[in-house]
Amino acid sequence: MALDNLRQFLKEIDRLGELVRVTHPVRARLEAAEIADRFDLYATAGVHPHHARDCGPSTIAELRDIAKHPRVVAIGECGLDFNRNYSPHPDQEKWFVAQLELGLELGLPLFLHSRDAHPRFAEILKSHRVTKAVAHCFTGERDELRAYLDLGLYIGITGWICDERRGRHLLELVREIPRDRLLVETDAPYLTPRDLRPQPKARRNEPAFLPHIVNTVARALGRPAEEVAQETTRNAHTLFGLRESRATAHEKRTARA
Ligand SMILES: [Zn+2]
Repeated sequence: MALDNLRQFLKEIDRLGELVRVTHPVRARLEAAEIADRFDLYATAGVHPHHARDCGPSTIAELRDIAKHPRVVAIGECGLDFNRNYSPHPDQEKWFVAQLELGLELGLPLFLHSRDAHPRFAEILKSHRVTKAVAHCFTGERDELRAYLDLGLYIGITGWICDERRGRHLLELVREIPRDRLLVETDAPYLTPRDLRPQPKARRNEPAFLPHIVNTVARALGRPAEEVAQETTRNAHTLFGLRESRATAHEKRTARA
């Protein structure tokens, strides 16, 4: 999300409570941490696989530095994207592994992006014994889901599940995700739920549309939305360690630094 859209984004914050913010552009990473601080949000620090080709000798040191910020709760999003292929595969793998090792070193969970990269993606996670992570914006099929659940990952469901053209299979698959492994997310400003009425201006997704996604997930599970909302919030707290007070989190990071 560009910083000039921030005001609009922040309007919604009060209604939603805590959120974990994920940014793509390299330049915005530190700003995200600082904004998180000012507005009581959380941020992640990472380089998206699209930008793997822009990584260099100082990238991991920079990320390690940003991750010291007490509002940074995960490394990522990092991973592999063999759908768009904006960066060559060897670059993507190299910087995915480097970030994954950083997460393990710092004891931070990983915010994982994988698109059309199964089973290579799961192989890498397995060989590095990654368990504390979320497969963000899961859109895959059953075998991919099983591989992630076997590794102990959390599964992030977005408005993709509201897409009648390409997300229908998720209505069924979401029932196979254990209650203590499910997370919900927007992927804003992308992936505006297609069945949202009225559609927002320029189809821009917002954190405010999260309840719409929760309702869809709850309907698919045949369970009350309120319950699903509480469980997924609890799961986010567990994975990202949001239960800790800021002071405790800060102490830990300082000790790690
Ligand atoms: Zn992603």
